[in-house]
This record gives sequence, C-alpha cells and structure tokens, in this order.
Amino acid sequence: MSSESTTIRWEQDDTGVVTLVLDDPDQSANTVNKAFRDSFAAITDRLEAEKDSLRGVILTSAKKTFFAGGDLRDLIRVTPDTAQELFDGGLAFKRQLRRMETLGKPVVAAINGAALGGGYEIALACHHRIALDAPGSKIGCPEVTLGLLPGGGGVVRTVRLLGITDALLKVLLQGTQYSPRRALENGLVDEVAETREEMLAKARAFIDAHPESAQPWDRPGYRIPGGTPSHPKFAANLPAFPANLRKQTGGAPYPAPRNIMAAAVEGAQVDFDTAQVIEARYFVELAAGQTSKNMIQAFFFDLQAVNSGAGRPKDVPARKVTKVAVLGAGMMGAGIAYSCARAGIDVVLKDVSLEAALKGKGYSEKLCAKAVAKGRTTQEKADALLARITPTAEVSDLAGCDAVVEAVFEDTSLKHKVFQEVQNVVAPGALLCSNTSTLPITALAEGVERQEDFIGLHFFSPVDKMPLVEIIKGERTGEEALARAFDLVRQINKTPIVVNDSRGFFTSRVIGHFINEGVAMVGEGIEPASVEQAAAQAGYPAKVLSLMDELTLTLPRKIRRETQRAVEEAGGTWTPHPAEAVVDRMVDEFGRTGRSGGAGFYDYDENGRRGLLWPGLREHFTKPGHTIPFRDMQERMLFSEALDTVRLLEEGVLTSVADANIGSILGIGFPGWTGGVLQYINGYEGGLPGFVARARELSERYGERFTPPALLVEKAEKGEIFTD
Ligand code: NAD
Repeated sequence: MSSESTTIRWEQDDTGVVTLVLDDPDQSANTVNKAFRDSFAAITDRLEAEKDSLRGVILTSAKKTFFAGGDLRDLIRVTPDTAQELFDGGLAFKRQLRRMETLGKPVVAAINGAALGGGYEIALACHHRIALDAPGSKIGCPEVTLGLLPGGGGVVRTVRLLGITDALLKVLLQGTQYSPRRALENGLVDEVAETREEMLAKARAFIDAHPESAQPWDRPGYRIPGGTPSHPKFAANLPAFPANLRKQTGGAPYPAPRNIMAAAVEGAQVDFDTAQVIEARYFVELAAGQTSKNMIQAFFFDLQAVNSGAGRPKDVPARKVTKVAVLGAGMMGAGIAYSCARAGIDVVLKDVSLEAALKGKGYSEKLCAKAVAKGRTTQEKADALLARITPTAEVSDLAGCDAVVEAVFEDTSLKHKVFQEVQNVVAPGALLCSNTSTLPITALAEGVERQEDFIGLHFFSPVDKMPLVEIIKGERTGEEALARAFDLVRQINKTPIVVNDSRGFFTSRVIGHFINEGVAMVGEGIEPASVEQAAAQAGYPAKVLSLMDELTLTLPRKIRRETQRAVEEAGGTWTPHPAEAVVDRMVDEFGRTGRSGGAGFYDYDENGRRGLLWPGLREHFTKPGHTIPFRDMQERMLFSEALDTVRLLEEGVLTSVADANIGSILGIGFPGWTGGVLQYINGYEGGLPGFVARARELSERYGERFTPPALLVEKAEKGEIFTD
C-alpha cells in the first residue's frame, strides 16, 4: 500500500524519530473521516515496513486542536440497517491503533490542543501522553453527553490504565472535560508542557529513555488497577453499580451510562481484543438508537447553530460591551453582575441604597472566594474580577455605560421609573435590556425614549450556573439592538435564544404547562409521590411539585390572574386549567405558599431544607387506589410542554426549532435524552404521526389541552419533521 497520506504528514529526522503531523487539508479540525482512516492505514503499513530504521514516533497536530474525534454527521445517520457497517469500520480502525500500539517502538502523543473523544482515544493508544497547557485546551471522553460511548478503544484502555472504578467515575460516566493540568492530576496524561518546544523535547526524551516501549497491559504480569470483577474484593462493590447508575440517570431513559458500565465491567474480564469487540457492540447499539440521535442533534448541531448566530441579524457588525449598568442588586442582578465581570466587562451595580448594592457585590465575593479555595481561579484573577464591579446608589455613576440590564422587582411602573432615571445618563445609544421573566417587552419599552434600543434579556437562576439567556424582541426592537444583545450574551459565554414578545415568552410559558400538569394530577387524586417519581423518571432535573415550591405557589397564581385579565380584556374566554383549583386551595385554605413561605407541597425545616411531601396532600386530595398508567403520567408532562411549543411556533413567538430545543433543555429542564422539546416530537415512536395519535389519546383521557395543534397535524400528514 502506498505510504502517501492525505491527512497525516510523515516527518522523519536523522535520528530516526518520526513525527506524524495530523493535518487534514480540508477541515479546520482533524476528525475520524474516511480520508483519515485511509491515511492512518497507510501510515501504520509504513511504520511496520520501516520499523527497523525508526527509534520512535511522535503524534501531534498542526491544527489548534489535537484531534476532534468522530464525525457526528456520519454518526447521526446510522440506522439499525447500517449498524454492521459501523461495527466493521470501527473495529478495523481499532486494529490500526492496536498495530501502532504494539509496534515495539515508543509512540508519544504530543497533545497540542483539545483531545476529546476520538482524539483522546488516539492518545490513549500511545505509550506516553504529554499535554500542552494551552488556554481552553480540554481532554477527556465526553461521548456520554451525546448518548454514546468512546468506541475507539476508550473504554477498554481507560479501564486498563486507571482501573474500572476510576475509569468510570473520572472519565467515562460523566464525560468530564479536563484542563491539561487536571488531566495530569487524574492520570489521563503523563506530563504537561508549557510550550510546544518543551512538549516535543519531552517527547524525544521519553523516546530516548524507552527504546522498547509497550503498553502496561501488554507487559507480562499486568493486572488491571484495583482488580477485576472476578476478584472478591472488587466483586463486593459490584452490587453498588446499578444503584450508582440509577443515581446518575434518575431512572430516565439514558442508555449510554448503562452500556458504558457494561462494556467496562465485561471488558475487564476478557483479553484486550475481545474487550474491543464488546466495546464495539455496545457502541453500535447506542449509535443506532434514537437517544444518541436526539442528543447529537441538540448538544452538537442545535447548540452550534444557536451559538454561532443563526438568530442574529447578519449585517450588523459585532460590537463588544465595555461597561454595563446592572439595575437592582437582588438575586438576579447580583448574578448578572458576576457573569459580566467574569467576562471582563466593567459593571456598575446599582440599587436603592449603597448597602443593598454592596450586598449584591457580596455575592460575587462569595463566588470568587469559593473558586479560589477550590483552585478554579487564582487570587489575582478573583481580585481583578471584583475590582470590575462598582456598587452604587447614585444614578450619575452610570455615565458611560454602553448597556443597561435592569433586574429590579417585577413591576411595570417601577421598571418604567428606573429606565427613565438612567436613560439619559448612560452612554448615548446604550443598549437597554430588561430581565423581566413575564412582563411583555413591548409594553415595558413604552417607558423609554429609544424603543428601538429596548429588548428583553431573560436570565435564569442561579445566573452564574445557568447557561441560557432568552432574548425577547419587542414589537419596536431594532435589528441592531437584537444583534448587540446577542453579542453581549455570547460575550459572557452564555447561549442566546431569540423569541418574539408574548406573555411568558417561550420558557416561562412552557414550563408552566409542565408544572400545571403535575399539580393537576395531584388534584385528580393520584398519589403525589407517584407524580414526583414520574417526573424524575421522565428525566426532569427537578421533580414537579418540588419545583412548584421553589417558584412559590403565589407567583404563578399572580401571573395567571394577570394573564386571565388580559385575555378577558381582549374579548377572549379564559379556560381554567385543573391545576388552578389545587393551587388556590393550597394557598387560601392551607396557607401553603411554597418553600420561601416555609410550607408548600413539601414540608420544610426552619433552615428551609426540604423534608417530606406534606401528609395533608393525601388527606385532602388523594383518592386511595386511584391511579393512571405511569407512562401517561410522564407523557402528560412531556406532551403538555411539547404541544404548547408547537402552538408558540404557530403564533410566531418561536421562529427556530434549534432555539426551542436548546432553550427547553438549558433553560427549563426539559429532559436532555429527548434532544429538546421539538426533537422529542421528531423522535417519538412512530414519528410525528405517532405523536399525533398519542396526543389524541391523551386528549380523550385527560382533556382538550392535549389536542394536537394544526401545525403538528399538518406536518405529520405531509411526512415532515420539525427542523430549521
Ligand atoms: P430581588 O427581589 O432579589 O431583587 C430586586 C432588587 O431590585 C432588590 O435588591 C431591590 O432593592 C432592587 N430595586 C428595587 N427598586 C430599585 C430601584 N429603583 N433602583 C435600583 N434597584 C432597585 O428580585 P430578583 O429575583 O433578582 O428579580 C429581579 C427581576 O428579575 C424581576 O423582574 C424578575 O421577574 C426577574 N427574574 C427573576 C428570576 C428569578 O428566578 N428570581 C428569573 C428570571 C428573571
């Protein structure tokens, strides 16, 4: 076979060291595509043929990243019919890696940038791994986050390198992406280098010192660290595995962790080559299944589309915010100030008194101290971040701010008042944003002179952790304001979705359906504990009644009453949801208003810690023996959100499928295995027609709110799916 290679350069020096430079000429990153597989096959042939004249091999890349892994565009298309092809192709590639690993010459991975998934698996097949401490560089096996497992030998080798428990906990089950330093601490790499030159020098030093390198698992007497399942000590731990698995998935349908665990445990009991076949079987099963397709669609393609600016007007030049005014230093304002300062933006944090503003800055102080203590940042960086936040009670201190983010109480006239105070003090043309979670943006904009610069910027709590921001365009919001708001959200490293103005926008409105459905089931007399369990096993991160307690029972009630008034004033008729009567009784009859009030669907101790479900629920609501199929409980919650999302598309509030999917997962906890609220419909058993049929069934059993909207029926009839 020819040693000509298209994606890997062979550079040999006169000491017999070959540097294999990964450099796909057609892509900005190296991936496992056909060209790479062919190149790699040719390279392994050449390595074997010229072995006697070689002293060692260094594998590195000419790109910013080391290697990006498998091509997800191929993987998402795998079906049960093409699964065998994937299985064969995967094993063939693994055999090439094995040939390199057993060459008898030292092979060093000089990891010059990110090595995730397939990239790290290639490095694992080398005898020594040296990572360049490049900014933003990440190392690990994040496949589980896409519903997959590392199918390029990653399970087999991490188990043999670290032992079953560490491989599972540190690498495989969470998909943690480590910085080079943390990868070193956790045993994923052997050395870290500060510069490229140092990295290559270290690689050469390893080759000099280990002329006949072999993997630990290919040496005589090798044992898997920590033992194998056949060892009595390890076997004693095995019963805990299913429990841990359940803890990770909450019982939700995530097949990847189960397959990873099975591949690790089964693979540890057989020889290396058999373990590779076992890994391949579990990998292909995942790749051909629906969950990985949902997760790849959402967490790779949709996320990329959303973050790269699909919703941003194209012809407005990018602009960075340098100084932001945050109005209101309460829970949200404090978090927004921190997120902006962390991204290098100067913040003036204003509240009614300096004391309140200082308290808001105190939140950043706490977060910084914690980050320093945990080694996630340095004291110097923390000090610089805090120095960027200026607390104040003086409007005049807002001079020069090129953006305003308002987060005062949820009250239209107060919001109008604070904007009036600041609009002529901040920089001329400053972007004007409100963090309202429910008030229509168009009406809020009426309180400012430059309505075209006014926009909704809806953050989620806690702001420092939640990755999503919902941008809401009012009727008079200009394209420039939209582009600037989008850029600001990206500047603080969050993900922006863009929606049109409407009561509750997308996220608050849709999450309301989830909560209402859970509460309605309690009202029907179903055991509250079953309702909670149904939410957890559907994959919701928070159980439905506990979530309602967090939000308070009074706030949604207030919003509902305002909405009802607005509907009726517009000449419409309000259709009460069965949840309303339950909430009204909880508040009016039993005085239980949620966690902040000390009592809700759950009991709370004096420190606000959640206890058990309130026994009174069973007494006042539960009908003993009354139940409905568990699947109905779960699907009532999932369908209620999905169906309303379709209505939001019909109403033009949502304009992008990717925004709906990403917004639902990152903003309101729609289960990740579904790929998001519209991908859930696409991937439902039987596709859209199957979803429509099931919605009609739920509608007959539980009420007209499950009637499929016209857009959904039409798409099902035309054989279409939801896609941008
Ligand atoms: P909060 O009660 O914690 O904070 C409000 C702050 O605004 C208080 O510190 C108050 O002193 C200050 N304030 C009042 N009048 C002011 C004025 N004239 N000038 C400057 N500051 C003033 O409330 P929060 O939970 O942070 O919510 C703030 C806004 O964010 C609301 O519009 C809310 O709907 C929205 N929001 C809240 C959440 C949430 O989960 N809490 C999520 C998204 C959006």
